[in-house]
Amino acid sequence: MSKTIKESEKSLTTQHFRAGFVTVIGRPNVGKSTLINSLLGQKVAAVSPKAQTTRRQQLGILTSESAQVIFVDTPGIHNPRTKLGEVLNQQAESSIEGMDAILWIVDVSSEPTDDDRRIADLLGKLKRRSTLLLGLNKIDLVSPDQLPAKSSAYVDLVKRATALPISATRGDGKDELLKALIYHMPERDAEYPEDQITDLFEREIAADLIREACLHHLRDEVPHGVNVRIDQFTERNETTAYIHATIFVERESQKGIAIGENGAMLKKIGSSARQQIEEMSGRKIFLELRVKVAKDWRDDEAMLNQFGYKMEKKKKK
Ligand code: GDP
Ligand code: MG
Repeated sequence: MSKTIKESEKSLTTQHFRAGFVTVIGRPNVGKSTLINSLLGQKVAAVSPKAQTTRRQQLGILTSESAQVIFVDTPGIHNPRTKLGEVLNQQAESSIEGMDAILWIVDVSSEPTDDDRRIADLLGKLKRRSTLLLGLNKIDLVSPDQLPAKSSAYVDLVKRATALPISATRGDGKDELLKALIYHMPERDAEYPEDQITDLFEREIAADLIREACLHHLRDEVPHGVNVRIDQFTERNETTAYIHATIFVERESQKGIAIGENGAMLKKIGSSARQQIEEMSGRKIFLELRVKVAKDWRDDEAMLNQFGYKMEKKKKK
């Protein structure tokens, strides 16, 4: 347990556990990844997000004795291949609606750009008034006498936000930011087991998407008796990942259907699953699938554990 987290929690007036989702938004290069890595670095190594995990929807989970803060990405918002404006209009609005807090990171050493103004517009349009924190990052690059003017250029864009000057690289303001985030998390049980690693999350989504593709293509022929296990999830580099997964069906006859003539059905399933996973993770995916028969997996505890159904039990009280 890190001292800093403990100290920041002393001020909480309640003993109840707090947990919630924080969406982190901001244009590229403002320091989102640096900040989150640094915040998570305060906690146990079990969380330890690798640099590449920050590209994805789930940025990291910070669990302390009395709070869990789950940092999530806004899908597509940081993807250089999508035009920020379009993405903001299409999906970001719905994806940040319903978050417990929104953390907007800006680079206070530079002037606001059109992208910043678009983000401000989006935040202004939110129906639900989620907690809004403005992280004025890179204060180490700004001289103290310039800071008020530089800051207000951003503060003026979102007047209702709580603004916090920080330096993700140097660590200034980190404790205050964390304290503010925890303070705004609702009283709630932990969403994830304490030792949940960020990687698992993407694996689970990938498994779900493969399962969805199976159900879509196989329709009524293999009803519900499909499960998916991710055998390997390797990140080749920042933009590419390799996934090997096994589709489990309950009967030999279903295996034939799932594979299809000359593997045609499995190809179809793989192709749509791959597209979905690429969309979710924002990178190129190499997907390899195989089909196996696992009789009665739904009644088999060991199988269920293998498929990840054990997680529920591990939740904090
Ligand atoms: P992201 O695209 O928003 O995730 O930004 P990154 O975290 O990748 O950071 C972009 C660059 O800004 C990197 O070179 C960081 O080292 C740098 N950076 C991030 N935070 C700070 C900061 O507080 N001060 C300074 N001087 N540089 C920073
Ligand atoms: Mg980043």
